Amino acid sequence: MTDQTAYKRVLLKLSGEALMGDDAFGINHDVLKRFTTELKSVSDTGVQMAIVIGGGNLFRGVASATNGMDRPTADYMGMLATVMNALALADALKQQDMAAVVMSGLPVGPVAETYDRNKALNYLNDGVAVIFGAGTGNPFFTTDTAASLRGLEIDADVVFKATKVNGVYDKDPMKHSDAKRYDTLSYDEVLEKRLAVMDATAIALCRDNNMVLRVLSINEQGSLLRAIRGGDEGTIVK
Ligand code: UDP
Repeated sequence: MTDQTAYKRVLLKLSGEALMGDDAFGINHDVLKRFTTELKSVSDTGVQMAIVIGGGNLFRGVASATNGMDRPTADYMGMLATVMNALALADALKQQDMAAVVMSGLPVGPVAETYDRNKALNYLNDGVAVIFGAGTGNPFFTTDTAASLRGLEIDADVVFKATKVNGVYDKDPMKHSDAKRYDTLSYDEVLEKRLAVMDATAIALCRDNNMVLRVLSINEQGSLLRAIRGGDEGTIVK
């Protein structure tokens, strides 16, 4: 480790929507560059970094199923969308001289390695950032649940959920100026109050296995790095 940090190994959940920036669809390359600069600054501390990336900027299975598509088919399409984002992120990280590899929960032949826990751990121990694509590899799940699952599998110290705002609020801070931010919450409070942190399956998996969640902003420059260095950033769910 090259720096004083609060964590040794972290898992970051980045939503697909975050990659859109202000665009209506797809990957905004300025946003991607900004994120990779943030991730590089974290990686430079010596922290081992795994990332689960969503696909909502390209395709969301539930939305298409609502329009009549077979749900598992729509979900497989959603998972493939996350693989596209994972490839874009890995490429952008490599352009910043950061070692990164994509592991897919669905076999995608020459496109990316298939998820293998032992190989993922070896990469992390060697300082390579591992980007998990295709979520859990199963329909009816989300990439939030994949973040909890992979975080537990790789024995991460914490799962960071990157959002547009710096933590969890009692109401939407974009719409209400008096919205109050929570410093800490219990898993059950999140579930009972139906707070928009992660879906219930993802929260329950963390609760049942004592995985600490930390919700912070990916848009606020340096927020992730400050949290990694032990700063009082965002909301902790434990
Ligand atoms: N998905 C899935 N199983 C998983 C993870 C994702 O079927 O384990 C599909 C699902 O259709 C979802 C889409 O992939 O709508 C994109 O993932 P998600 O909505 O979680 O992305 P995000 O909201 O983080 O951008």
